[in-house]
Amino acid sequence: MKKYYLLTPGPTPIPPNVALKEALPILHHRTSEFAQIYKDVSEGLKYAFQTANEVYTIAGSGSAAMETAVVNLLSPGDEIIVASCGNFGDRWAKIAQSYGVKVISVSVEWGKIVIPAQIEEALKANPNVKAVYTTFTETSTGVVNDIKTIGEIVSKTNAVLVVDTVSGLVGQEYRADAWKVDVTVSGSQKGFMLAPGLSFITLSDKAWKLVETSKIPKFYFDIKKYKKSYATNETPFTPPVTLMVSLLEAIKMIKEEGLENMWNEYKLLAKASRAGMKALGLELFGEVPCEVVTSAKVPEAIGGKIVKTLREKYGVSIAGGQGDLKGKIIRFAHMGYIGKADILVGFSCLEMVLEELGVKIEKGKSVAAVQEVLMGK
Ligand SMILES: *Cc1c(COP(=O)(O)O)cnc(C)c1O
Repeated sequence: MKKYYLLTPGPTPIPPNVALKEALPILHHRTSEFAQIYKDVSEGLKYAFQTANEVYTIAGSGSAAMETAVVNLLSPGDEIIVASCGNFGDRWAKIAQSYGVKVISVSVEWGKIVIPAQIEEALKANPNVKAVYTTFTETSTGVVNDIKTIGEIVSKTNAVLVVDTVSGLVGQEYRADAWKVDVTVSGSQKGFMLAPGLSFITLSDKAWKLVETSKIPKFYFDIKKYKKSYATNETPFTPPVTLMVSLLEAIKMIKEEGLENMWNEYKLLAKASRAGMKALGLELFGEVPCEVVTSAKVPEAIGGKIVKTLREKYGVSIAGGQGDLKGKIIRFAHMGYIGKADILVGFSCLEMVLEELGVKIEKGKSVAAVQEVLMGK
């Protein structure tokens, strides 16, 4: 028998009280009972997104909300700017191109953060651009982009700003309205401490104007349907009622804890994780590390083996690199229902695995470094 620890940047572990809600009998979705749940969930989501606008829930993984943010704002032949610094930023370009949208790329090398001044220049050079698509916390590399500054820039133009916060929301300070973000998308399986399967999207008035002109064909992801149903606390299609009931429980926890307290906790876990990596002699990866996942470079020959051995031998799941970073980095998550003790377990087992794979380390050193930070020293 093996006990498993999930320290991956999605899905994340879910709290027992949230998991228990998933065992309750199914309720029908065209009832006043469900309407109340949907209403409370939607209010809670507004808090998590820090927006006064409506937040819609769509069945699907985070990419469903990303696709929704493309097909509802644009028409074939439209020009957009994609500011990518990793795998998820690149996904914006792939979705848009598959609908015949012209992508102007202001992407940077993986590990760097996107450069707001480049977005500003591209907007000046391409006045017809309808929207700028970018990523808050780029999970594939572990960096965080300066959305506030980008929001200032884009808000002065006719273009709308669309931000993917699938991994960052709840885990790190994010304010959709104050930062002038027009469209924010997220998902259930990371900061929200829930099973995968729900995606969320919120739109500003400026973005709704674009919705009116959009000609990309759509049906299930037609955001107007979601808006219309929202008025009566319903969803246009059968919602995953089980996930909605468990989301309400997760939102209750987030409200009780308070977003700012949660942000501070993950900030501490991020600091501890960075100290742990450094103590192992592993160089941190990423220009501006985010607070929901920590990436570090590992010797290429054993990169894949670290992740595999940790899971197979000790039941600890972490993530490796994606794309060109495969085998070159490891990623430790501290988002969702991951706490202080989980980080200690992760580093303690990582030390054993590194030694087993022939890396010279001093056992206990990273654990001590993590402890120092967690104890506030
Ligand atoms: C996880 C993630 C997604 C969505 O991936 P899905 O597999 O569709 O849920 C999108 N963007 C970022 C930054 C992510 O971390």
